[in-house]
Amino acid sequence: MKNGCQTAAGRTTARVKITSKAARRKNTSNTARRTIRPKTARMLQEWFRILVQIMFFLAAPSVYSAAFSAAKHALSAMGAGVPLEWTGFTVQFLVVVVYTILFGRFFCGWACAFGAVNDWIYRFSQWVQKKTGRHLPEIPERAAGILSKMKFVVLIGLLALCFFQRETAITANSPWTVFALLRARHFELAGNTIGIVLLLAMLVGMAFQERFFCRFFCPMGAIFALLPYLPFFHLTRHADQCPDSCRACKNTCPVDLYISADGKNMGECIRCGRCSGICPRGNITSWGKLKGNEWWMDLAKAGGLYLLFWVLQV
Ligand code: SF4
Ligand code: SF4
Ligand code: SF4
Repeated sequence: MKNGCQTAAGRTTARVKITSKAARRKNTSNTARRTIRPKTARMLQEWFRILVQIMFFLAAPSVYSAAFSAAKHALSAMGAGVPLEWTGFTVQFLVVVVYTILFGRFFCGWACAFGAVNDWIYRFSQWVQKKTGRHLPEIPERAAGILSKMKFVVLIGLLALCFFQRETAITANSPWTVFALLRARHFELAGNTIGIVLLLAMLVGMAFQERFFCRFFCPMGAIFALLPYLPFFHLTRHADQCPDSCRACKNTCPVDLYISADGKNMGECIRCGRCSGICPRGNITSWGKLKGNEWWMDLAKAGGLYLLFWVLQV
């Protein structure tokens, strides 16, 4: 009887121990989830984006320049008064434009080779600055705001040159052309001196400021910024629930964007999803209750774009 009681008590004690162990484990994992998960999730999301960028860099490195060539050819044809030719460039232009109207500037954030180079140089520069303890100055916010209008001037200037049949002047002097030649392992760059100097200047700028070329000078980025976007995948910031002092989403944004409450300033957004990842209150949403940075959604968008490029032999 005594033995029986002891056995029962022993079992009870063991059960209590197991239960408390399980509860401890659950508590620990809950705590871990609370404290580690957002940072880990942000890191994983960034690595995921880098992987997608590498994939597009290798598989479709020249879409950005091909798409812009289509815009230039369209203006040239208009200027010359000849019918517009349907080329592979036109198809690439239409694909990225339609994708941008549907999903915002996903192409810029995830699939553009030159945008990826902007990111990689800036990241490398940040790493060097951290290691050496020396910090490069960033362009002041006000100046950056003014400079971001430069890309529209560049766009108008380039399109005007095309309209007046001066297209060759752009091709030889364009940093994009030099980058595309280098990417294709074509190192004969004679006659591209201005393009080389401009490309070097751009690369230096990328080390100072995140998305330097995209924000300030990219004519294709200017076209994307002017496009109308369908509302389904818009990011919405619920500003009424934001503390006055919080700017975490803006501070992490590669293009320094503070999403307006009405979401009307999203033309510059490259859909990297960092803002949704860092917001401590989940105040940034997309399409109802989604956060706009779900990995499966980004995977679907990247897969869809890759498939389109593959089918169209881009
Ligand atoms: S802004 Fe221009 S260079 Fe930057 S990602 Fe978009 S198309 Fe590419
Ligand atoms: S951080 Fe947010 S607002 Fe900024 S580019 Fe990325 S998705 Fe757009
Ligand atoms: S990080 Fe979140 S809470 Fe802070 S300002 Fe941005 S949306 Fe609002």
